[in-house]
Amino acid sequence: MPPIPAATPPSRTRLGNFFRPRVLRDLAIYLAFMLPIVWGLVAVEQSRFSDLARAGSKRDMRNYARVFTEEVRATVGTIDLSLVQLRSTWQRDRAHFPQAVGDHVRYLRTRLPILVTVFDAKGRVVYSNAAPSKDGHDMPEATSYQAHLDIRDDRMVIGGPTICPLTHAWVIPFSRSIRDAQGRLQGVIMATVAPEYFVRFYEDVDLGPQASVSLIRTDGTVLARSTRGSINQGVGQVLKDNPHSDHSPVTGSFRRAGQLDGIERLYTWHKLPEYGMVVTVGEAVLDAEARFVQQRAVLTWVGTAVSLVLALLGWAALGATDRRRRALKALAAAEARWKLALTATGDGVWDCDVVTGLATLSARAQKILDTERSVISWYGSALDAMVHPDDLPQLRAQLRSHLAGKTPDFAAEFRVRMRNGDWSWIDARGTVSERDELGMPMRMVGTFSNIDARKHEEARMRRMAHEDALTGLPNRVLLGDRLRQAIRSASRDGHKVALIYFDLDKFKPVNDTHGHAVGDRLLQMVARRLRAGLREADTLARIGGDEFVVLLPRCDNLLDASTVAENILYQLNQPFEEGELVLQISGSLGIALFPDDGMDAEALLRAADLAMYDAKSHGRNRVAASQPTDALPAR
Ligand code: GH3
Ligand code: MG
Repeated sequence: MPPIPAATPPSRTRLGNFFRPRVLRDLAIYLAFMLPIVWGLVAVEQSRFSDLARAGSKRDMRNYARVFTEEVRATVGTIDLSLVQLRSTWQRDRAHFPQAVGDHVRYLRTRLPILVTVFDAKGRVVYSNAAPSKDGHDMPEATSYQAHLDIRDDRMVIGGPTICPLTHAWVIPFSRSIRDAQGRLQGVIMATVAPEYFVRFYEDVDLGPQASVSLIRTDGTVLARSTRGSINQGVGQVLKDNPHSDHSPVTGSFRRAGQLDGIERLYTWHKLPEYGMVVTVGEAVLDAEARFVQQRAVLTWVGTAVSLVLALLGWAALGATDRRRRALKALAAAEARWKLALTATGDGVWDCDVVTGLATLSARAQKILDTERSVISWYGSALDAMVHPDDLPQLRAQLRSHLAGKTPDFAAEFRVRMRNGDWSWIDARGTVSERDELGMPMRMVGTFSNIDARKHEEARMRRMAHEDALTGLPNRVLLGDRLRQAIRSASRDGHKVALIYFDLDKFKPVNDTHGHAVGDRLLQMVARRLRAGLREADTLARIGGDEFVVLLPRCDNLLDASTVAENILYQLNQPFEEGELVLQISGSLGIALFPDDGMDAEALLRAADLAMYDAKSHGRNRVAASQPTDALPAR
């Protein structure tokens, strides 16, 4: 017998389960798997947001660069148009030139501060709409003038940014040559514009705090530049290693630290090839990524929340699993104990799955049922082959009523066929040991025990209560039962019942002469002989020392009863041989009929007894009917 584990004592508190080292260790393993997955996903999403930020920034910058380029193109075009128109006025109608300049500047001034200067063929200022400078102001303009000496065709020249001697502010000179019909240089007309004009649109769009917008000549000279809080920073400087060279595409992107302020930006350029200019728009990388800062923060929170929830759920599940595991262990221990308890009694144990009806048998149970099968079915026709047909309905009813919850325990006694063909009495007991959440029985356990000995004893007791020990004939009790039954059925069907009461004559002297044992043998021989001469339905009972009663449950009249009585008397008169002895006896018989001589068993017995005495008193060895007047004469 394997040792039986002691039941694990339950935890003091439910929460106590959750702090068990085993639960905490399992939780740590579980989190070691789960958390990297969660945070790996968070990191992937974070980097996706970074990519989105960069892609979004690039797209925005490209759009802005394109819009700004168109704006610059339109502005430069307007300036050029003014130059062409003013030049024409200068050549055709010089008298009206100042007025025309005034008109153009007025028209343009609403949009940009503009100074118009005209140089003659020698580079001297012959017209300016600005007040003359005290410092002389021919130097920078001379550069513009010089540029036209080197070219033959009529085109606008955009000069590098210079400090205007009048305003001491940065200006960009735009100039066109004035030529005669033969193409000889007659002079130069020039308009100077503040660089901020070209990047003024920067104010209108929010590109982030660190963005920059620049207008750059293809040689890298910064014409105009705007960042938040500073206009014209870096104007006039030359940027190196620019991706937007003469041969580069019209538009493109790059990322680098700004050469003027060192801020890391995502730049997009867009070229104006006809003017030899490039517009660059740059958004600080930090600003671009800040666009998704909120989403990334949310993601971090979500990651944290998911981690916490996973940890809590894992903890709860592991705690519950641990509790269940220990409960199962306790259950197994309890089961082992009850099995021991049951097997110790010598009973066979069975364990039935109520859903399938299959019961597993212990070795002892198999032996009791005399079967080699370790599993039998409690349901269906499987029992038919095993259980006595008379006992089946009762067995099934008991089982049903216990499963239906009508009886606290299942108990049934039935006969089971053994392999040698004999029937063996079995006592089965059981109880539902497990129910589902709805209370439906799931499992039933119980015992089988062989009750053959008890059944035999019961039968013996029953026999003793109804049988005469010496002759094996029914005794007075059983006779009474049968007589009452015969009276009931006779009153129902309207026939008669006859009772023949008789006593052996002079029996005592047999005892006295040959001994009590011979008397006993004689009583047994009388019983056997008379029994053999009667019908199956008739009862021969011994109700006293040498007193017998024959019950004829169906009898038509007194004559029939008398015939039977006469025959009994005849049988008694035949000699009985006991060893060497030949015994000759006789008897006195009294007949009583139902309903004629009594309406119940007692009355009828009394009447028959009286009739018997009547026969005795009339000389014995004769039959007498209930009324003395009807006493039959001795043969
Ligand atoms: P009677 O003709 O008037 O019937 O006289 P009897 O000798 O038969 O005596 P009675 O019927 O009055 O008594 C029956 C006797 O049978 C009494 C007893 O000695 C004897 N007896 C009673 N029971 C037994 C028994 O079980 N075995 C034996 N051997 N004798 C018994
Ligand atoms: Mg007698």
